[in-house]
Amino acid sequence: MHLTTLASGSSGNAILVGENNRHLLVDCGISGKSLLHNLSQVNIPDSEIEGIVVTHEHVDHIRGVGILARKLKIPIYATTGLWEAMGSSLGKLAENQRIEVQSSFSCAGLNVVLYPTSHDSRESYGLKVSRPRLKNKGDLAVGIATDSGVITQEMHRHLKGCDALVVEANYDEERLKWGPYPAYLKKRISGRYGHLENKQLAEGLSEWITENTQRVILAHLSEENNTPEIALSTVMRILQELNSSKKCPDVLVQVAPRYTPHELIQLRE
Ligand SMILES: [Zn+2]
Ligand SMILES: [Zn+2]
Repeated sequence: MHLTTLASGSSGNAILVGENNRHLLVDCGISGKSLLHNLSQVNIPDSEIEGIVVTHEHVDHIRGVGILARKLKIPIYATTGLWEAMGSSLGKLAENQRIEVQSSFSCAGLNVVLYPTSHDSRESYGLKVSRPRLKNKGDLAVGIATDSGVITQEMHRHLKGCDALVVEANYDEERLKWGPYPAYLKKRISGRYGHLENKQLAEGLSEWITENTQRVILAHLSEENNTPEIALSTVMRILQELNSSKKCPDVLVQVAPRYTPHELIQLRE
């Protein structure tokens, strides 16, 4: 299996997961044109994208979903509640492009599980995309969770032991506190239905990273209230302390670029 981020942050999010020449997109919060451009940068033909899974109806996750689905003639997978919340904002779709899903389904030959996150949208989900391992027991899995104000029990359950994790490090507590945002927005972001703070995420990661974990990508960073350097150093400081006391295995942690794709990550079997 492989994965990458194609765009990440409040200006737009898209994640690609796949295997060989079959791939699925998780959200398309940038324009269809930008998405296709970024896809070509990682040398993936657009004809190989088999579907788009929607995590929630905020514009930084669905901006290009309708346009891209029409252009590539591919289905969109979303829960009944999200289809209602998105209303007509995706534009005109063929009947077979509107796939109503429950908590698990298959797309591009991979198993997809949706689990709730804690966020101020109609519904919001994290994902686990997996398939059975070829030799050993268990699944090869990519765990994804952005847009959550707190770490939920469901996140613990689905993210622990994943081979790769794409997880939100949205803001730095001090930068949000002293930054230019109005009070109501600061409250929203740091609230139960907002976004994850760097240290909050690091604590989650310390539970989720196991000997299986090959890669961690920090995603959905705030442009005003975080920087790639702060997010990475905060998370690494906490993980390294735990690593030195043998409480957490060592793992490569990287930051998803805001406008450009991350390198394609190929997971070991
Ligand atoms: Zn959101
Ligand atoms: Zn978002």
